[in-house]
Amino acid sequence: MTIHRVLVTDSLAESGLEILRAAPDIDLDYRAGLKGEELLREIARSDALITRSGTAVTEKLVGAGNRLRVVGRAGVGLDNVDVDACTARGILVINAPTANIMSATEHTMAMLLSLCRNIPEADASVKRGEWIRSKFMGTELNGKVLGIIGLGRIGTRVTVRARAFGMRVIAYDPYVADTVYERVSAEKVSLDQLLAQADVITVHTPLTDETRGMIGAKEIAKTRDGVVFVNCARGGIFEEQALADALNSGKAAGAAIDVYADEPPGKANPLVSAKNIVLSPHIGANTIEAQDRVAVQTAEMVIEALRGSIFVSAVNLPFEGTAEAETAPLINLAEKLGLFTAQVITGAVTRTAIELWGIEDRLTKILSIAALKGLLTPILSTSVNFVNAEQIADQRGIAISSTTHPTPRDYNNLITFRASTEHEEFCISGTVFSEKNQRIVSVNDFRVEFEPKGNMIYAINRDVPGVVGKVGTLLGDREINIADYNLARTSTKGKAMAIITVDEPLDLETLNFLRSYREMEQVRQVKL
Ligand code: NAD
Repeated sequence: MTIHRVLVTDSLAESGLEILRAAPDIDLDYRAGLKGEELLREIARSDALITRSGTAVTEKLVGAGNRLRVVGRAGVGLDNVDVDACTARGILVINAPTANIMSATEHTMAMLLSLCRNIPEADASVKRGEWIRSKFMGTELNGKVLGIIGLGRIGTRVTVRARAFGMRVIAYDPYVADTVYERVSAEKVSLDQLLAQADVITVHTPLTDETRGMIGAKEIAKTRDGVVFVNCARGGIFEEQALADALNSGKAAGAAIDVYADEPPGKANPLVSAKNIVLSPHIGANTIEAQDRVAVQTAEMVIEALRGSIFVSAVNLPFEGTAEAETAPLINLAEKLGLFTAQVITGAVTRTAIELWGIEDRLTKILSIAALKGLLTPILSTSVNFVNAEQIADQRGIAISSTTHPTPRDYNNLITFRASTEHEEFCISGTVFSEKNQRIVSVNDFRVEFEPKGNMIYAINRDVPGVVGKVGTLLGDREINIADYNLARTSTKGKAMAIITVDEPLDLETLNFLRSYREMEQVRQVKL
């Protein structure tokens, strides 16, 4: 069993540490607060690093991590991680983006309710010894119109909760399908309609070039008098001065804000002194449950990644999202096609092409990368993985192309991988029958059917009688067990190909003996 050393340099919830301690192949080094030279020394001995925001994962740190394969950020933001430096070294960067969505959703509701019922001021007043009930006149949510900008994970959850409070929800998100609105019973509107109709406007978009300053003076002017604003998403989506002006002039009845353009906001921030505003210090994700979930998800994914899985929430994988487990056999097959090719082709590969039949388009990229990973792994000393395979191929001047055919050909699914050097082209195809049933079905012009697994001999010979017998005798004499002998012939070229699966790899002398047969044109050993 390979033991992976995991260095944790920030405090991590006990639930995550327990998972790391319980894994038999993980050697946990929990060193919260580790810095400087000691950190550089320890990183050189580690296979994975888990941090929160306390450790700057810089190019220098990553450079010192000779064995480092995974960086786990126990949280969402990656401000402290140099993702590009990690990508260049093939280091997977994992975060836990979904761990806090429920906490952020609930915080949005908490902030809105606090604002509508003046909870912070009422609390402070009672604690001062006052009893002025008339001062704290609130408003109900029931019957009001909530305008949601950004109908993603949090926006949809806020919708469901707001509807439970009796609100009518209208939403603006130009990037989601109508079914998303329907599923949560939000009415789809334009931004202008939302601004004009909503009693409460809450933003749940990421901060992008498009959303930065999305709600400024011009937009606020289009809203109802007495509108209420909420931002528990990202600072900067509202223009802070424009929002403060609207509050101070009475145009807006209130605002509840968790996030700021600059954090901490400081006394000069106009929101800090604005009227009718409830503020919190970016605590949307701060719950025991979210912190637990972050720690658990990060620990689990780091372990999975160290064990070789790519089905993790990595931010620097060159394909979208996480692949589902059902696609694993196809990905694995593509990698084996590349690996097989690498072991039989001679010379520098300059071009590769992957062709897919009966396989969803969205898998093209991942399968192409898997084949490249297989092709490059046996020839490079640096670790090749799903993060850097494409980049390495590009650096090595390998042109990559892909074609997909929606209809199946001969098999329910088929992957063909071609690699060309200046002198030859090698082409291999495979299919997946069921989860554990992969087959190579053609190699160049030869139709075959063998399982891509174990130690194999790939032999091309002139198609004359007696070759099989000679090979069998030689291997028998040397006590090498043949598990499978696949033979294929081409009628046109008078050639035969054998794929012989053996229990253990052949030594060089036996291989050379095989190569010395007159009939043999090519003998290669392949390990998959
Ligand atoms: P998400 O990616 O699931 O959803 C974002 C949605 O915004 C998407 O549906 C997208 O289509 C939409 N969108 C993007 N650009 C848009 C535009 N110009 N106009 C309208 N809609 C647009 O994200 P999420 O997990 O729901 O998170 C939402 C926000 O909450 C993010 O900014 C996230 O960083 C923030 N957040 C804050 C806290 C906190 O501590 N306060 C915690 C968690 C998340």
